[in-house]
Amino acid sequence: MAGARRPGRNFLFVPGPTNVPDRILRAMHIPMEDHRSPDFPKLTIPLFEEMKKVFQTKEGQVVIFPSSGTGAWESALTNTRAPGDKLLAPRFGQFSHLWIDLARRHGLDVIVQEEEWGTGADPDRIEEELRADKNHEIKGILVVHNETATGVTSDIAAVRRAMDAAGHPALLYVDGVSSIGSIDFRFDEWGVDLAITGSQKGMMLPAGLGIVCASPKALAQMDDATCTRAYFNLADQFNANAGGYFPYTPALPLLYGLRESLAMMSEEGLENVFARHRTLASGTRAAVDAWGLLLCAKAPKWHSDTVSAIMVPDGFSGADVIERAYRRYNLALGAGLSEVAGKLFRIGHLGDLNELMLLGAISGAEMSMRDVGIPVEPGSGVAAAQEYFRNANGAAEQRLAAE
Ligand code: PLP
Repeated sequence: MAGARRPGRNFLFVPGPTNVPDRILRAMHIPMEDHRSPDFPKLTIPLFEEMKKVFQTKEGQVVIFPSSGTGAWESALTNTRAPGDKLLAPRFGQFSHLWIDLARRHGLDVIVQEEEWGTGADPDRIEEELRADKNHEIKGILVVHNETATGVTSDIAAVRRAMDAAGHPALLYVDGVSSIGSIDFRFDEWGVDLAITGSQKGMMLPAGLGIVCASPKALAQMDDATCTRAYFNLADQFNANAGGYFPYTPALPLLYGLRESLAMMSEEGLENVFARHRTLASGTRAAVDAWGLLLCAKAPKWHSDTVSAIMVPDGFSGADVIERAYRRYNLALGAGLSEVAGKLFRIGHLGDLNELMLLGAISGAEMSMRDVGIPVEPGSGVAAAQEYFRNANGAAEQRLAAE
């Protein structure tokens, strides 16, 4: 059909799945092999060890299984809880909402702390609620580290301090689906008990792996947890993983891809990965300022370094911007979800990404906004981001020269 082809690359700027680097695509292009062979653990055992570095843990135990982030949520909860257990969860976006919903479907009794969308977990409110819980009925706190729907990052260290200040023994469950591997995440230092992520964002892989890290305290609660679980039973997985095997047929290409992704992160250096995400996010925020628009995140302390949710002015629809970007410019932007549907569009700036790639997306967003009538100055966002990157690079070069 003439005209059906869309030449050039699709610009994938949703906040996950992210671009899979060619190197990882090649690493996943493998023939199938026997996953019970004596050689197989040579592939798998290092994956668990390397993944621990991404969680920044020595104490935690990592499990990697076929799923997406949602399955990792389920696995973390069902392996450590019993129906009727009380949990405390701040809700400030679609993903914190969905995790609460999943917990409730497993019969867990979730006390929800409503926070305005565009803000995040409030450590003071959490501390207050925990202090009031004299009998320690609350068994766990669920916090989404990076709320992908609103572009908000919560302060997990502050949540841990609040828990400690209240002297409360609840487990700290953290969703790091859109932060782990992109934004500094310190499992041990922050006293996280269960951290969960998926493969398709910071890890630069296709969707298909759920990854959970459990603290010794969380592992100790597994025997008493009576929520129904079978495929996601972590005990089965840990038993098989100990020898480098799995209690089912593993997703081989994804495991090879993960090996490559971990190698790439180690070559770049985790600190540099975080710094790169910070620079890319700051450049995006400079563009948003230059457009005269606002982020959904209400204050700088909530700014996410992996996704910017950009409010469109009254009288315009974010969905129109996204539609125009997709059809006219082959650019995929993230949609506004649920409460913020139509009110914003999102630029995902995470994974295997550099400044010029991001400038393409900023330029496409700018053109799409102008096409639907949003009055932004042509080139303003691109110029502001360029200037930000130039200055950031200048500072980095000066640092290197001084070393
Ligand atoms: N948590 C967060 C913060 C997410 O962004 C997502 C998906 O985007 C999920 C959980 C759900 O993960 P998945 O779609 O991989 O099941």
